[in-house]
Parts: sequence; structure tokens; C-alpha cells
Amino acid sequence: MPTESETGYDPSLGRKFIFVTGGVMSGLGKGITAASTGRLLANAGFDVSAVKIDPYLNVDAGTMNPFQHGEVYVLKDGGEVDLDLGNYERFLDIDMTFDHNVTTGKVYQHVIQKERAGDYLGKTVQIIPHITDDIKRRVREAAQGSDICIIEVGGTVGDIEGMPYLEALRQFAHEEDEDDILFAHVTLVPYSKNGEQKTKPTQHSVKELRSIGLQPDILVGRCSDPLDAQTREKIALFCDVPRDAVFSNPDVEDIYHVPLMVEDEGLDEYVLSHFGLQAEALPEGERDTEWRERVTRETTGSVDVALVGKYGLEDAYMSIHEALKHAGLERQIEVERTWVSAENIADGHGDELEDVDGVIVPGGFGSRGTEGKINAIEYARTNDVPFLGLCLGFQMAVVEYARNVLGLDQAHSAELEDTPHPVIDLLPEQKDLDDMGGTMRLGAHTTEIEPGTIAHDLYESTTCEERHRHRYEVNPEYIPDLEDAGLVFSGTSGRRMEILELPEHPYFFGTQFHPEFRSRPTRASPPFVGFLDAMVELAGGDS
Ligand code: GLN
Repeated sequence: MPTESETGYDPSLGRKFIFVTGGVMSGLGKGITAASTGRLLANAGFDVSAVKIDPYLNVDAGTMNPFQHGEVYVLKDGGEVDLDLGNYERFLDIDMTFDHNVTTGKVYQHVIQKERAGDYLGKTVQIIPHITDDIKRRVREAAQGSDICIIEVGGTVGDIEGMPYLEALRQFAHEEDEDDILFAHVTLVPYSKNGEQKTKPTQHSVKELRSIGLQPDILVGRCSDPLDAQTREKIALFCDVPRDAVFSNPDVEDIYHVPLMVEDEGLDEYVLSHFGLQAEALPEGERDTEWRERVTRETTGSVDVALVGKYGLEDAYMSIHEALKHAGLERQIEVERTWVSAENIADGHGDELEDVDGVIVPGGFGSRGTEGKINAIEYARTNDVPFLGLCLGFQMAVVEYARNVLGLDQAHSAELEDTPHPVIDLLPEQKDLDDMGGTMRLGAHTTEIEPGTIAHDLYESTTCEERHRHRYEVNPEYIPDLEDAGLVFSGTSGRRMEILELPEHPYFFGTQFHPEFRSRPTRASPPFVGFLDAMVELAGGDS
């Protein structure tokens, strides 16, 4: 786990802070709205960063179940964080660090450690000021180096867990120059049975905010449609904001179109004028338009990908879904994604994979569904179906090869079963560890790529820096036999095998790392582009 330190704060840096809260209910997509606004501000020439506040008691997301909470996103520095940080990285095209995810667990752990060390000099340690001070410190430090920092408070206004944060933000706003702060509140505007947009939930949540001393500067109404003029009027009146500070956030087909919608609404311009930054912003004609161009290009065909995993929940594999979309944007191909439960893929492979153009086996932990994943890999390998194996998917490709090509029937990963042939085994430094939080091999590490391989073609380099999250690795004892049998390890990091490929196959590619975490809408990940190209070639681009 990345170490925590108090790095200090330089108040002379003149940053602007956008605080984003949510009302009525969670899951409104306030992160996407905030990130989209950030994208537009970045297009206008500003350095934009973001902080996600998660008011839960977990120190980080590393120990959280993806089925309940969505995927664990991994940062460059090895921080295991909430998947919303993935959205900020993708929308803003930045690399964030562990400090950009503030959790109640982190804050309390730090304050209690200081109390134990006697740093509070005998004082009673309290939520106000000690917890709130630590929250403010974290926000300021994480914002360091950016022109505009977006701070999103997870959950909904009124949640007990969120109270110390809202209090901290209230204090924060007093300590900074008024012109440097903007409070944005995202709420739900539902329809009544007779088709009327209802503002009462919004009014109530703003009332809740005001009772703790926060007055929103702008309101964003999530609704299936744009807000009517009358709805805007009403919200402005009851929530005490100017009429032009009420914005619509209607449903759009694709999250990558949200920045376009936010731009049409003029939200970015409003933010710039609130901060008095219009003169510093690039003139309209000089702003970066790459995003708009990419996400609005016509597609020329489509492919179907099966994701063979444990969880039938898109959020559990969010970055993989996004990376496939990015490859699709790059090649102007629609990538249809279906989840196939690994548990349903029997030996002989059933019909589940028959109609798909490619198979992905994602990362994972635990043995449920493993045999199905191995069956899926065997199917892809022996039927020339493009295959991409990520982390556990890479490890299972090694197991499949050891079993079915080397003839080691009982080969397996030592993580998943007692086996006489642990072709995947524990990293030596992991053998004596008891603690599960933050102790895997995490974050960005360099992989050396063998020239002349598929990996080399894809990365167009002899190295790549990708993010990791694993405890197990290819057991060096089996490498010579696997290689003699035709498996190519085209990427390595010291004694570790990082990339595998089969030169004779249309695309059989696996990575011990997770390339999906570095994929961006305007910069698709090479292994995903290679996978898509192979599918398009086989399917004629129009399956
Ligand atoms: N469970 C495997 C390991 O720890 C793979 C991890 C993953 O897929 N992220 O090595």
C-alpha cells in the first residue's frame, strides 16, 4: 500500500475547488457529470484533477467485494481505490495517486495513530476539529499542482457517514477565498404519473444541505429528459440559485457523450465565469476537440465479445468494458459485450461461446468458475478464436496449456487447489504474509518486451508500464517446458512472466498485468486494440 505522509500545503498556489454533492439518492452519475465538466475545463487549457471522498470505514477498496461495490481500480502508485477514480482518469486523462481517494477509514486511522503517538498533546480528540482538519488537509494536498480540483463527496446528503465531510467543506469554504470555491449539487428530478417533472425531492435535499450551512452555487437535475423551463424556474426559486445556475443532465446513450451534453448546457462556461477564469481560458476555436471528434465518429461494423467471469455485473469489470469501448473508438467498431458465467462453461464448451468473435477471461480471485474459464480458454485456443487473458485469465491460460499441451492433467494454480503441478505459484515474498489489505504486488511496474513478438508490434516498444494486482505468478520451474511446447513469454519483469502469446494463433494473448487500467478514450490500450483487430479480421468487421 502506498505510504501516507503529510506533504504540507502551499496556499499561494491559487487553486479553484469544485465540491460536488449528491441529493435524493445515490447512483445518479454525479461522478460522470463532474468528470465531464472537468474534461471541458481541461479542453479549455486548465490542469484539472479530482478527489473522490468515500465515506465508508474501509481504509481502501482493496478488500471490497466487486459484486457489492464494483471493480477495485488500481492506480499507478498501487493504490486500490473506488472505481469512480477510473472514470476521472479516463475523462481527464490523468494519472491519479492514492491520496486522491479519501476514505473515512484512512482519516480515522491517521488521526488515531497520531493520538497514540501523543501528537495531540493531551487534548480530547474529536470529530470537530481533528477529523475535519485531517479531511481539509487531504483535500488541499491532493489538489496541489492543479488549477481546478473537483472534489466529489460519495453517498447522499443526509447520510450519517457523510456529515463530517460536509462540515469540513463548510469550514474549507470559509478558509479560502469565496471566488475559489463552487458548490455543485446533483439531484434527481423524477416524473410524476401524469408526466410532470417534480422538484420536491430537490428542494428537500437542498434544505438538508442548507441546514448544515452549505448553499449550492449550481444545481444539476438528473432526469430522463432535459428539464423544462418551468422546472428550472421552480428549482431556482425554491433553492435560491440564479435561473441560469440550474442545469439539466438528461440520460444519454453513452457516458462519453456526457461532456458534449454538459457543453451544450453551458455548465463549463458558467464554472469559468464563477471563478473569473474566462480570460485565462483558451478561446473557443483553440480548445481541444479530440474528444468530441472521437466519440461522435460513425462506426463501420461490430463484433461480439464474451467476458467469461464470475460476476454478472458490468461494474465488476468496468475498466475492461471501457477498454473495449476505447479500442472500438480507435477502430470505429461497435463492440458488443456479453457476460458469460464461467460456471456455465462445461467441458466441450456448450453453446455459450459459439457465436462470439472473441473471448476475454478477466482477473479474479478464488476458485469458483475456474474450470469453466479453463474450458473457455481451451475452446478459444483450439478453435482459433481471439482470446485475451487478464491477470487470472493469463494464469489460467498457462494452466490450460500445461494441462492440455504438456499433458500435466492436474496442473493448477496453487491459489486455487492443492496440485502436484503448481504452474502458478505464490510470489516468494508473499509466503509469510498474513495481512490481506494492500499487500499484493500492486501498481505500475516495467515489463521488458521481446523484439519481434506480437507484444512488440502492439506496444511498438521494448518496454511497457502497466498496472498490477496479484499475489501469484508463473512458476519458473515450468517455464522451459512451456516454452518448448510453443508458448511464448514475450514480456518479462526480472524472473516474472508478464505477457504470453501464441505466434501461430490469430490472437492468443495474456497479460499478468491489467492493461485495462491505463486505457483511455483517446488512447486505447494496445492489447485491446490487437484483440479487436484480430476479431475484425476474422469476422470481416460485420458479424
Ligand atoms: N488471484 C490471482 C493472483 O492473486 C490473480 C489476481 C487478479 O486477477 N487480479 O495472482
